Amino acid sequence: MTTIAIVSALHEELAAVLDLMPDEQQQVVGGRTFWRGHLQGHDVVAVLSGIGKVAAATTAAVLIERFGVQRIVFTGVAGGLAPGVNVGDVVVARHFLQHDMDASPIFPRHEVPGYGRSRFDADAMLTAQLVRASEQVMRELPSRLGAEVMRAFGLEAPRCHQGLLISGDRFVSTTAESLALRDALPDALAVEMEGAAFAQVCHDYGVPLAVVRTISDRADDAAHVDFPRFLREVASRYSGAVIDALLAQR
Ligand code: SAH
Repeated sequence: MTTIAIVSALHEELAAVLDLMPDEQQQVVGGRTFWRGHLQGHDVVAVLSGIGKVAAATTAAVLIERFGVQRIVFTGVAGGLAPGVNVGDVVVARHFLQHDMDASPIFPRHEVPGYGRSRFDADAMLTAQLVRASEQVMRELPSRLGAEVMRAFGLEAPRCHQGLLISGDRFVSTTAESLALRDALPDALAVEMEGAAFAQVCHDYGVPLAVVRTISDRADDAAHVDFPRFLREVASRYSGAVIDALLAQR
């Protein structure tokens, strides 16, 4: 049987997944706790990557080298960039790019030295499955969350987007930076801090990767949603439901 890794950056997101794994056993490697167990009949290793590209790359390498995982699925939150990518929507990545990679003028801006490219791809088949699971959860979302939570976060008709996800070692929280990213990378749907690092390591090892992100903010100056409450009441319930729906597919 193949082993699938389920990864999140933040504790609250992974908690929902761990709740679904009744028999998990812990193992600490490189300062991270890895939980091995089962979910919907699959062998699963669940882990918190921590925040940022280096933490993400270490986690990916340990998952592949030490735990022999054959597929990796990342669930988390991200800031929306493209118009129409709103708080409460979901973005499933088709491609990844490190927006803070810049070895110009030796290499073109954003190109990862040694790879001859700036964009890395998500696995098409695993991503199609993740889109199906996300859309299913999307349809059930209002009844799952309840009217009060929907109102509290201004969620109306949450949508599932697919496309470019960009990553960098910065929490993007000013309109100026968000506009600069949109200007440089007009097709970027959302920004976060881990996805493209996972994509580079998964490319190195030939391990399929899929990433889903719930939009928690618009990466701008606008008043922030109550982030802890959003994580608890929206994003983490999303992560759990999407992973459950994904692994239930046969
Ligand atoms: N309040 C949290 C802060 C983490 S937010 C804490 O105290 O732990 C950063 C995480 O959310 C990162 O893992 C990143 O991937 C994601 N993220 C969400 N919105 C983001 C944004 N606007 N810019 C960059 N990363 C974002």
